[in-house]
Amino acid sequence: MECPRCHNRNVNRLYKLNGKYYCRECIAFHRVFVDEKIVPEGFQYPSKAVQYHLDFELSASQKQISRQLVENYQNQLHSLVLAVCGSGKTEIVFELIQYALEQGHRVCFCIPRKELVKELYQRIYHSFRFVDIGLVYGGHTENIEAQFIICTMHQLYRFESTGFDLIIADEVDAFPFYGNRVLQEIFTNCCRGNYVKLSATFVKEDIHQEELLIMNRRYHGYDLPVPRLMICPRCLQIFIIHLLLWKWKKKVIIYVPFVKDVDKVVHQLRCFRVKGVSSMHKHNQENLEALKNGDIDVIVSTTLLERGITVEDVQVIVYHGEDNLFDCRTLIQIAGRVGRKISHPQGHVYILSCEHTSSIRQCIHTIKDLNTMNV
Ligand SMILES: [Zn+2]
Repeated sequence: MECPRCHNRNVNRLYKLNGKYYCRECIAFHRVFVDEKIVPEGFQYPSKAVQYHLDFELSASQKQISRQLVENYQNQLHSLVLAVCGSGKTEIVFELIQYALEQGHRVCFCIPRKELVKELYQRIYHSFRFVDIGLVYGGHTENIEAQFIICTMHQLYRFESTGFDLIIADEVDAFPFYGNRVLQEIFTNCCRGNYVKLSATFVKEDIHQEELLIMNRRYHGYDLPVPRLMICPRCLQIFIIHLLLWKWKKKVIIYVPFVKDVDKVVHQLRCFRVKGVSSMHKHNQENLEALKNGDIDVIVSTTLLERGITVEDVQVIVYHGEDNLFDCRTLIQIAGRVGRKISHPQGHVYILSCEHTSSIRQCIHTIKDLNTMNV
């Protein structure tokens, strides 16, 4: 016996109900019986002209990847786009979305987290004004029949019976999609045609039969900031943070490994205008806005703010960088918060650590490689 959705064969996770077996492994995404068939039916929408507009012109490398994505899709190939943080990866799929919608194909753009999906919807809605778009995330279902759906990965199960011709998945290396077998099986079940996966931090194990496209320059053409490692005992790290804050006199985000560190570090930095952000703190969005507006100087955050945020002229410091929580991907994402705006395309990234971990080494090595790569 095997679950038709998540392919679970563990009999301890297959329960009996009215003489039929169902899967407990993926029960969170509504019940599936082992004799059910999960094959998306598909539905052809009428072909029509689709327009979109951008507020800026794509760079030469963005244009090239944009065209290549359309070509891969026409040739029924899956694509993987490694696009460094701040390279403008969302806009490079717009031409492909336009092409697929014009063919009458059903399209989905999905992203792991709820906060990110709302922002993504705003950006796409702004560019595709005249397209009917559905938006689905936990607690929100809007226009679910639309040809073009924007949703979280968690909501993909709603589309297993209909499926998509094209699925664009952003931040595929992020929690909770990364390493979640059930979500990944659901993703595969929904994909009737081809997919495009986007990320800033692919590693070798993520690449299968897809065509790999690399965008290693930021849209403004400047290098990615290379983190500076300062090896120092844990007890001295707060002292160094004080010195850096006095020296820079700029907006700073300090990343700490655990929620319990947030309030501790906020307290130790109380001579600055500082706020804490984590999944356990309140007013996170307001505090982030306050940093953007210059109403506060410093945010102390867990890795909650590792991706999806842009603050003009921000510097970052990693506190207790030796902690396992700061793996290579996380450090690359954190470094990617700096220099995103053309007005301030560069800045400081400091990693304070009591030892030189392999994650730190790998992160610095990868960023240097991307900066010198010719593609
Ligand atoms: Zn299952």
